[in-house]
Amino acid sequence: MISFVAEDRCEPCGACVAVCPANVFEAGPGGRPVIARQTQCQTCFLCELYCPADALYVDPDCETVRPVDPAQAAPLLGQYRRESGWGEWADVYANEHWRMGEIFARARALATPRT
Ligand code: SF4
Ligand code: SF4
Repeated sequence: MISFVAEDRCEPCGACVAVCPANVFEAGPGGRPVIARQTQCQTCFLCELYCPADALYVDPDCETVRPVDPAQAAPLLGQYRRESGWGEWADVYANEHWRMGEIFARARALATPRT
């Protein structure tokens, strides 16, 4: 579940607000995102993936809001984007984001109202 925004890293670009499928964020002062609806988070990691500044931390625990110490989590910022081989990491790690395709397809099927 989304845990915190490292405001000192954020270069307000709006990407996390735009990509979040669960409308978790609001644009706050200066355009920086505010976690407005934390329990709506689906732990999909898309915000981490799209954040060019590695300013977001998503706790892998998808069910519980856990207090996370920003200092302890700091070394993990950007890990998902890095190990997914996005951006400047494309030549270092294989981009395996395609693996999410099946998961998203299942989510779409579950979310589609049956008639
Ligand atoms: S992990 Fe997914 S659902 Fe949660 S805040 Fe980020 S983009 Fe939104
Ligand atoms: S994607 Fe990252 S840099 Fe852009 S607004 Fe969100 S937290 Fe800030």
